[in-house]
Amino acid sequence: MAEPFPLEPSLWHATAPAAAPVSPLAADAAADVCVIGAGYAGLSTALHLAEAGISVVVLEAHEPGWGGSGRNGGQVIPGIKYDPSEIAAKFGVDAGEALTRFVGSTADLVFDLIDRHGMDVPYKRAGWIQGAHTPAMVETVKRRAAEWQARGVDADFLDKDAVARLLGSDRYLGGWLDRRAGGVQPLAYARGLAKAAIEAGARIHGQSRVVALKRNGASWSVRTAQGASVTAPRVVVATNGYTGDLIPKLRQTVIRPNSFIVATEALSDNLAGTILPEGQVTSDTRQLLLYFRKDHQNRLLMGGRGPFREPKDASDWAHLERVVGKMYPQAKGVPFGFRWCGRVALTRDFLPHLHEPEPGLLVDIGCMGRGVGLQSAMGKAMADYLATGDRARLPFPVVPIKPLPLHALNELYVSAIITWYRLTDGGMKDKAA
Ligand SMILES: Cc1cc2nc3c(=O)[nH]c(=O)nc-3n(C[C@H](O)[C@H](O)[C@H](O)COP(=O)(O)OP(=O)(O)OC[C@H]3O[C@@H](n4cnc5c(N)ncnc54)[C@H](O)[C@@H]3O)c2cc1C
Repeated sequence: MAEPFPLEPSLWHATAPAAAPVSPLAADAAADVCVIGAGYAGLSTALHLAEAGISVVVLEAHEPGWGGSGRNGGQVIPGIKYDPSEIAAKFGVDAGEALTRFVGSTADLVFDLIDRHGMDVPYKRAGWIQGAHTPAMVETVKRRAAEWQARGVDADFLDKDAVARLLGSDRYLGGWLDRRAGGVQPLAYARGLAKAAIEAGARIHGQSRVVALKRNGASWSVRTAQGASVTAPRVVVATNGYTGDLIPKLRQTVIRPNSFIVATEALSDNLAGTILPEGQVTSDTRQLLLYFRKDHQNRLLMGGRGPFREPKDASDWAHLERVVGKMYPQAKGVPFGFRWCGRVALTRDFLPHLHEPEPGLLVDIGCMGRGVGLQSAMGKAMADYLATGDRARLPFPVVPIKPLPLHALNELYVSAIITWYRLTDGGMKDKAA
């Protein structure tokens, strides 16, 4: 398999505050909990465990935030793919209500953590707009806004004119605005979580890839590539879109497409005033969605599909650059300063999956596109569970590891559907892509 695309070419790497220093694991260590993977899920688990007085060591193959957590669009959006009524239909009324409350609170948690720990994270909480690209989707987002409004959420349906005014583009037929959401510098947030966790007492080691996980009686031995090990009675695996073969069949439970992003150089003040003038973050209702926003220095970001494989050259981002020109003709000619990508892990039911294949071994996988809030909250919930032993603290049921049938073919199939959706998703994309 090709080496994964590095973090360095991203806008976020170029503009994040310096990371708290973390050294590789040099000698054997012991802890109550060993966390594998330092993205939002692993870091939030470590922070909340350390705050509860539980000793925790985090082992990260690269640096904190190297995975999806340092590469994403920085859109902090509460909720999951399913609306509250769909969640109730799937999980039952009572469990569904509890899950809706959990997924509805994930953006609050991110902004609270940033504020509470005084993290150096540029952010703006002006809401998220979901643009509808077909008449049927206009009805869907109208219903979606009404469902959340009925739960007291500050949300509005937007007609075509309203969405055009807020986006600065007339490409959508309607939309809805969820004011719980906002935008962050995602790598700054990951680094802020790491710093807060270290200050609370967590030990974090970078450049410490875990290569073996072995049970010794009541404890786990977690061995790194350098040879040093951590011994802990409990282990949390939070490797998500970068999951390897540590746990048999785990990687085969998800499909891991690459999501691609381009960012322009900073827009002039005049131009920036015509594009997302109020600073919302945005995505749309396509199967292979477009997601876009301005960063804190007025660069315009456009994210979306790309090849399943690792990129070869700048031409792999060219379709997104064309979308910018179609959606915002006024930005045509503004140079693109950054092109990067990262892997998301998609589960069969589009929900994050929790597994406990053996006592003391907890796995969280399946990041979808809501991971900034969701994985931060999953980390907090996993820490609560580990601290109390109460499984009811986990928002999703613990399920067996069940590989997707014909996993390798599935990955090929995803490459094919990326092409298919490109040809069939309605509205602007055909002209834009
Ligand atoms: C391009 C892109 C855009 C996205 N946009 C958004 C968005 O706008 N909003 C949103 O909410 N979500 C978005 N997402 C999803 C979001 O980024 C993820 O859901 C989230 O970051 C996942 O966090 P995590 O902690 O679960 O995993 P990750 O952040 O991926 O962390 C996993 C870590 O595990 C480490 N690791 C793997 N194997 C080992 C090993 N053997 N030993 C030690 N360490 C290991 C990796 O190096 C990595 O750092 C996007 C994702 C991508 C890729």
